[in-house]
Amino acid sequence: MQRYSFLALAHRALSGHRSWRPAWRKAAPKARYEIVIIGGGGHGLATAYYLAKEHGIRDVAVLEKGVIGLGNTGRNTTIIRSNYLWDESARIYEHALKLWEGLSAELNFNLMLSQRGVLNLAHSEADIREGHRRVNANRLNGIDAEWLEPAEAKRFCPILNIGRDARYPVLGATLQRRGGVARHDAVAWGFARAADAQGVDIVENCEVTAIRSQGGRILGVETTRGEIAAGKVAISAAGHNSVVAAMAGVRLPLQSHPLQALVSEPVKPVLDCVVMSGAVHVYVSQSDKGELVMGAGIDGYNSYAQRGSFHVIEGQMAALLELFPIFSRLRMLRSWGGIVDVAPDASPIIGRLPVEGLYLNGGWGTGGFKATPGAGHVFAHTIAHDEPHPLAAPFGLDRFRSGALIDEHAAAAVSH
Ligand SMILES: Cc1cc2nc3c(=O)[nH]c(=O)nc-3n(C[C@H](O)[C@H](O)[C@H](O)COP(=O)(O)OP(=O)(O)OC[C@H]3O[C@@H](n4cnc5c(N)ncnc54)[C@H](O)[C@@H]3O)c2cc1C
Repeated sequence: MQRYSFLALAHRALSGHRSWRPAWRKAAPKARYEIVIIGGGGHGLATAYYLAKEHGIRDVAVLEKGVIGLGNTGRNTTIIRSNYLWDESARIYEHALKLWEGLSAELNFNLMLSQRGVLNLAHSEADIREGHRRVNANRLNGIDAEWLEPAEAKRFCPILNIGRDARYPVLGATLQRRGGVARHDAVAWGFARAADAQGVDIVENCEVTAIRSQGGRILGVETTRGEIAAGKVAISAAGHNSVVAAMAGVRLPLQSHPLQALVSEPVKPVLDCVVMSGAVHVYVSQSDKGELVMGAGIDGYNSYAQRGSFHVIEGQMAALLELFPIFSRLRMLRSWGGIVDVAPDASPIIGRLPVEGLYLNGGWGTGGFKATPGAGHVFAHTIAHDEPHPLAAPFGLDRFRSGALIDEHAAAAVSH
């Protein structure tokens, strides 16, 4: 891999930056791979990277119907945190957060991780109880978590409106100082570059149109670039997971919804933390370019259209202004939508599917960006060993039969 460093940058500057090699090859698909991954988002690319790096499996292809990272990986609001309620979730999201903390160095790619702190606001007695409960549960799991009274929240985020005359006054907040944001598409590019360097083929503009199996065993996939045989097939297609799994005759308990976000015009630095509010329904941070990056709740209907409806944007704006009246004259720049796959308990599904050699990493819904390295890491282990990684074990599909659900609707409440 061509290493990036200050010296390399200075050296290439002398030749007008014309001597850089592409960060990954434009691979053409081979007739057969040991493992085929469907979906070139952060999760699929991270899985390929860890398969090669940790398990020595390099005969891997990542098949992406468009260009890598243009799915939810490049559409999300980039919030990273691990303050989930239940032990199972806290462990897997904290595993991811720990990987994030060393990932730029490991991939030799600046992911612009900024651990600026994430505030989750409380606006009712129930929110306060839930916030305290979550802080205590997080601490028991070794996760940094604090409860802030309104004045302390205001000290942490001076432009926050804690006035008592707001529709839903701020009554306190949880704070995870190690939470923050990262540059979303850099995550796809960084994993793609590192996986490619290990010999993984990243095949773009290659849509999987069918999954072939015989006698309950996977044979391979059919794509817009021809048939590809595979020993194992791993699905990591986010909003399209249920569509892709249906190609193998598997029905998943997932619903696909639009989730939208928008950015404002860029302004000087004014907001140096992440603020989330489940009650008024907005989450906001400021990008390095100066734009406010805001996310909404999911649209109530099912869709694959990658755009959302206007009334959600209106609600999002009202929520923003309630928390930050200072933004009342800010103009909005653009909005977009992604399609998220939501499971009934708002937790992911990671593991084997009922066709031998077929695996799924999905159901991350509105909150899977923060999990990207952790999900890829445990999914790679699950595929390589044909049994779930201990952190992934509670998230198997069979929990919908056994009833051992992991209800994280409250942790994900802001976007539900
Ligand atoms: C507006 C918005 C805001 C969000 N905010 C946050 C946030 O702040 N924090 C957070 O943690 N999470 C957030 N999320 C959720 C997060 O973005 C996702 O959970 C995560 O990015 C999923 O990653 P992925 O790699 O699985 O999916 P994707 O990046 O969507 O990758 C899946 C890929 O599969 C490809 N694909 C689909 N079908 C096929 C096929 N048949 N053949 C080949 N390829 C196929 C798609 O083109 C896509 O590139 C947000 C999501 C949205 C939409």
